[in-house]
Amino acid sequence: MTLRRTLIIAGTCGLLACSGTRETAVAPAGAELSPNTYAALYQNASAEVQWMYEQAYALARVKLEANLAVPDGLPPAVVVDVDETVLDNSPYELENILAGRSYSPETWKAWTDRASAAALPGALAFLQHAEELGCAVFYITNRTDEERAATVRNLSALGFPMSDADHVLTKGSTSDKTARRASVAADHRIVLLVGDQLTDFDQVFRERGEDLGWGMLEEHREALHGRFVLVPNATYGYWRDGITGRGTSAEQQERVKRFLEERTRRP
Ligand SMILES: [Mg+2]
Repeated sequence: MTLRRTLIIAGTCGLLACSGTRETAVAPAGAELSPNTYAALYQNASAEVQWMYEQAYALARVKLEANLAVPDGLPPAVVVDVDETVLDNSPYELENILAGRSYSPETWKAWTDRASAAALPGALAFLQHAEELGCAVFYITNRTDEERAATVRNLSALGFPMSDADHVLTKGSTSDKTARRASVAADHRIVLLVGDQLTDFDQVFRERGEDLGWGMLEEHREALHGRFVLVPNATYGYWRDGITGRGTSAEQQERVKRFLEERTRRP
């Protein structure tokens, strides 16, 4: 764990501990913690999440080597997402909680401009290993084109292989990554993908439907096992949209309330 990350955790715990005597955005007197607080702390501070990343990248090595053993005419490539896959933005989430604000494009851009996100456990060693095995590495991210230079700077400073403008494929006009994956697949064999969202594997997971996507896992089971590794992200993602919808805050709260009632209904 980096010193910077340790300091942020210590600072957050300090505020939580003294919230009875000092009003903060985390827990003003008499108020509940922000709904995202525990998810963000779990992501940032838990040994469980640290280990899940280690575990995921260990599995990625096994799958990569197995897939490389199957011959193919095209040069191999590994495709990874960036946010919460190779770079850790949980300090940004904690800063938001402390400041009593939510995500906004402006504060997010200020965060990415700092180019100071740490590498997630196992990510760097895995991608260096992939490069040693002869794979190209592509970073397909929904950061904006305006964020590409700072993202390249951040990845390069950490030593990520092939982290240049040709290999960091930003959002352009769509968050759908299908066309960017196809552009890589035009002259490579994608042997493995790693992401924190199922849409990092296939856009079909964008709309989860009534069963929140569980049925789609069954339909895509073989392909997911073969070429995809998922890393944890408790704080945001399409999984949450599937429950809350994308309406106003009041509409989302109402949907969550109905969801809670359904999930706790006794047979
Ligand atoms: Mg991501």
